[in-house]
Formats: sequence, structure tokens, C-alpha cells
Amino acid sequence: MAKSFGRPGNEIHVLRNVDLEVADGELLVLLGPSGCGKTTLLRSLVGLERPDAGRIHIGGSCVLDTARGVFVQPNRRDVGMVFQNYALWPHMRVRKNVAYPLQSRGNKAALKDGRVEEVLDIVQCGHLADRYPPELSGGQQQRVSLARALAPRPALLLLDEPLSNLDALLRVELRAQLRLLHRELGFTAVHVTHDQEEAIALGTRVAVMNAGRIEQVGDPIEVYRAPATEYVADFLGARN
Ligand code: ATP
Repeated sequence: MAKSFGRPGNEIHVLRNVDLEVADGELLVLLGPSGCGKTTLLRSLVGLERPDAGRIHIGGSCVLDTARGVFVQPNRRDVGMVFQNYALWPHMRVRKNVAYPLQSRGNKAALKDGRVEEVLDIVQCGHLADRYPPELSGGQQQRVSLARALAPRPALLLLDEPLSNLDALLRVELRAQLRLLHRELGFTAVHVTHDQEEAIALGTRVAVMNAGRIEQVGDPIEVYRAPATEYVADFLGARN
């Protein structure tokens, strides 16, 4: 997959031949410095960016194939996304925020089956269902945002630096909870971060990205112990 911004002749190549496969049930952490293209890659997967060239398959369906002119709109992709700034609707109660993706996808059966209450309980926010997002702490908002993304049981969950706006203690606590949830529920996810400690603690695999390219993909400890390129060695070593 490739993506540039800017005018012809003066482009910034933000994604250069990115080739990535995420296996069922894996939590792949995309790790790289600011500006390397992580968010652009996630936005391409969810359909908020339109890559210049390439293909994307999610849960067995083709959602992008530039050669064939295929581009599936975001609301028709089987993807849930958690944003750094939570992106909850402030005027809707927590319950309604979480119900929204079920309603917008016409999943009335799940609403009746108590899916909203179920996911709110999973993230330990059942008691907050009748509150409005501005009445919640950052950590609570991020949990609710995770519940909203998980509610429709998406084939792919995307997490764009979901912990980076939280203080250090809460970040470690939520990271542990996210890992536990992943073990229990077995969802398939891509989690973006620039924090190598988070990547190693959380990922079943880690992909290190640099200037629009994937430099190395592998088991987090292996990548840490045996960096494949000088860049990976420097990036991981720089924070020791
Ligand atoms: P961060 O960790 O700081 O969020 P990132 O790795 O997620 O960074 P991106 O947000 O994907 O990086 O941005 C990659 C590059 O693409 C940056 O140089 C950014 O300025 C540029 N870019 C992103 N979106 C646009 C846009 N809509 N128009 C022009 N340039 C853009």
C-alpha cells in the first residue's frame, strides 16, 4: 500500500510499499516515531484515507483495491476504532454512545440482547451508563470508547495511541487491562504507539515503522533482542 500527500512533484511519501498481514486473534503493535505514518496507515484501514495504490482485505472482504477501483466506505467496513482523544459524543449518554455503532449498522438484535450493558461491564463501566462523557475521567472515557469499538464485534479493532493522553500510572493500569481483555476476548487488533515499553508489554507481535516503511515485524522480545536493521536497533536502544 502507498500514500502520498501534497502536489505532484512536491509530494510527501507517507506510506511506501507497506505490506502487513494481521492474523486472526493477534494484537499487532505498530511502533514508530512521530510522523512515520502510523496514523495514516490506521486511517487507511478504517477508510478515512484513500491510499494511492494497494489492496486491503479485512475479515475476508476486500475493502480497497486501487487497481480495480474498489473503495468501501468506513461505515461499511467491519472495523472498530479507538482514538487518542476518545472521540465520544459529549451530548449523548454513555449508553447511547456505545449503542451508536449497533444502531448505525442496523444491529437491533444485539441492542435487544443487552450487548451495550455487556461491553460496558467488560470495561468495568456499567455504573456509568447514564452519565455524559464530559462527566467522566480520561481513563473512564477511554474505557467507554473501547466498549463502543468492541460492541459490534468488529473483525478488526484499531487503537490509535489510546493510552497516550493518560497519566503514567493509569497508562500502565489500562495497558494491563487491555492485555487481559485481549486474552479473554481474543479480538484481532492493531495498536499504534511510539512507546516501546507499551509495545513490548502489549503486543503479540510488533511492527517497527520508519518513514513510511515497515522495518521489522516479529515477536516483541525477538525484535528487541535481534533488531533486523540499524534503524530498529537505534530506535529501541535510544530509550534504554
Ligand atoms: P504521530 O505519532 O505524531 O501521530 P504518525 O506516525 O501517526 O505520527 P502520521 O500522522 O501518519 O504520523 O503522519 C505522517 C506524515 O504525514 C507527517 O509528516 C504528517 O505531517 C503527514 N500528513 C498526515 N496527514 C496529512 C495530510 N492530510 N496532509 C498533508 N500531510 C499529512
